[in-house]
Amino acid sequence: MHPNQDPIIALATPQGVSAIAVVRLSGKGVIGIVNGLFCGSDLTQQASHTIHFGLIKKGDTTIDEVLVSIFIAPHSFTKEDSVEISCHGAPFIVSALIELFVAHGVRIAEPGEFTKRAFLNGRFDLAQAEAVADLIAADSALAHQTALHQMRGGFSSALQELRKALRHFAAMLTLELDFAEEDVEFLDRKELHKLADALIKNLTSLIDSFQLGNVIKQGVAVAIVGKPNVGKSTLLNALLQEERAIVSPIAGTTRDTIEGILHLGGIPFRFVDTAGLRENTSDAIEAIGIERTKAQLKKAFIVLYLVDLSNTTFKQAAADLVRWGLEGLPVLKIGNKIDLAPAAALENFKDYLLIAAQTGSGVAQLKDKLLELVAYKPTDGLATVVINARHYDRLQKSKQALTAVITGLEQKRSNELLVVDINSALYALGEITGEITTEEILGEIFSKFCIGK
Ligand code: GDP
Repeated sequence: MHPNQDPIIALATPQGVSAIAVVRLSGKGVIGIVNGLFCGSDLTQQASHTIHFGLIKKGDTTIDEVLVSIFIAPHSFTKEDSVEISCHGAPFIVSALIELFVAHGVRIAEPGEFTKRAFLNGRFDLAQAEAVADLIAADSALAHQTALHQMRGGFSSALQELRKALRHFAAMLTLELDFAEEDVEFLDRKELHKLADALIKNLTSLIDSFQLGNVIKQGVAVAIVGKPNVGKSTLLNALLQEERAIVSPIAGTTRDTIEGILHLGGIPFRFVDTAGLRENTSDAIEAIGIERTKAQLKKAFIVLYLVDLSNTTFKQAAADLVRWGLEGLPVLKIGNKIDLAPAAALENFKDYLLIAAQTGSGVAQLKDKLLELVAYKPTDGLATVVINARHYDRLQKSKQALTAVITGLEQKRSNELLVVDINSALYALGEITGEITTEEILGEIFSKFCIGK
């Protein structure tokens, strides 16, 4: 048990007026402290996980009628004695309660302190603790699922597997070292190379999943570009059909930039209709518009390039793509108004998705394509996805160290040197799960939590 068990208190529910608010206490002696201020049954004599009705009093004055839930160590979130007081959700009552307990020796908790204690007391590892924050912040089905998967240890067990394999690797090399004088070489270097390759492959797939993780967490920015009247707004409306209410002008942006959010397979896609790409670039104002549009395009995860099939040749479309600097961007090419286009004209547009925004024809295929581009298939189920930038960073460090191991093997470096690199790979992974922690890492993580978490 972590030694720092001084009693702490915080409001666990949001600030402001509500029907009920929950004030949470954790640490040594909290059940006794609450009992001293509680008029009702003797809380110190009750079983864990029981709820008791009574009054909290300051001297003769009743502060509130409350329900007190008690959790006896180690059967609580923090693994310490804990109490949750459900009171009426008035900020005045909450402040009075907290002040009362502070006057009786309880300290106001730091941000994330409950979760930090849960981690320090071994309830879960660091990656799982961080998932608690992500779970609370989750605003889409997939973000919720991913965080839940991580909180329940899905990511952690993938990392444990990797660490186990690395430790085995290091142990084999060290064992060989012990016999070095006898000049025994019982490790097949080719086998080692294979093992390192396999580990790098695993690491790489975790690292690559961060792109999806980011998308899940932040949503996908999709810019729609094309000349005026190609059907950008019509397409946006067709995409957002049921969610049209969300389409709204964004304050402070150009008059014709609108945004809407569409949830596909649990991922929020944020659509921006950019209007900057006009014909006449000699016009100074239009040039500014183009610059602005280009800046927006750089931020987009996917660019939908829309062409009007009724009046555009394939050659023109290709030329515009270059002229507007769309090459090299993640462009999805779309031919619109297929209903007005002569069949012969369509032949060249082989790598275009052909649609009619007005009738909705092809819009479903476009949605499928969008999901495909973020490399997520809802039917796949949820494999481990890295959603945390800190984890991504450490995974990359681990991969770098393993790449050095491979180079070392190829250059026939000594086992000692190889073990040093394997240990750095292990260290970086250990920092994710918290086998290796420093006050700095803990501070960085838990300070981002809110008070009461
Ligand atoms: P924007 O300037 O690119 O946003 O284009 P709009 O969405 O305002 O569309 C310009 C015109 O094209 C409107 O009159 C639309 O009704 C029409 N339009 C859009 N999509 C289609 C389509 O698929 N077929 C046909 N026939 N007309 C379309």
